[in-house]
Amino acid sequence: MNNNKEKILENLELFVVPGERLGSIEEGISEFGTYEDEGNVRAAYIGRATIDKEQKKFSVLPITKMPIYPYKGQSVIAKITSVQNTLAVAQIIAIEGEFINKSFTGLLHSSRIRGRYEKNLRRIIKPGDLVRCKVISSEGTIHLGISGNFFGVIEANCSICGRILKKIGRRNQLRCDNCGNVEIRLLASDYGVVKVSKK
Ligand SMILES: [Zn+2]
Repeated sequence: MNNNKEKILENLELFVVPGERLGSIEEGISEFGTYEDEGNVRAAYIGRATIDKEQKKFSVLPITKMPIYPYKGQSVIAKITSVQNTLAVAQIIAIEGEFINKSFTGLLHSSRIRGRYEKNLRRIIKPGDLVRCKVISSEGTIHLGISGNFFGVIEANCSICGRILKKIGRRNQLRCDNCGNVEIRLLASDYGVVKVSKK
């Protein structure tokens, strides 16, 4: 990676792949086609990286239209890794319905859940759930939100036995066919219909 950085500084232009380090945030700011990650600026696209040495800016001109980094306004599928009362942490595994080969961490704050009755995240989302979210902002930290029936949990497992829960009559209620356990989730309108292959 250091080699590449030197090449960029020397040539001002370089072919890069997503996740590739372009330099530190002290060396240049993250502009189009790049993102910040723990003090580094990395490429979000396959494309040509350029560095403006005068202005101290990194950018990448994409040569593919494939969405590889979650941008504001996009729909993503995220797997919940931890849940507190007001904040959930999730790994983004798909963008606009396409699985990505790298996961990004996103934060889902209870204030970003619109128009629903329950604001305590522990009661409506659990670790392991797959949730369709909207990207609210992606400069630095990726913030996710849920707004409208299309967004919410699309797959969840039973807290007792681990089997996939099935939607039952009432809104936001799920039941386990195996052990009879009933649980509540903030469901997307197409819960149980979306085919998601998990690794
Ligand atoms: Zn069960």
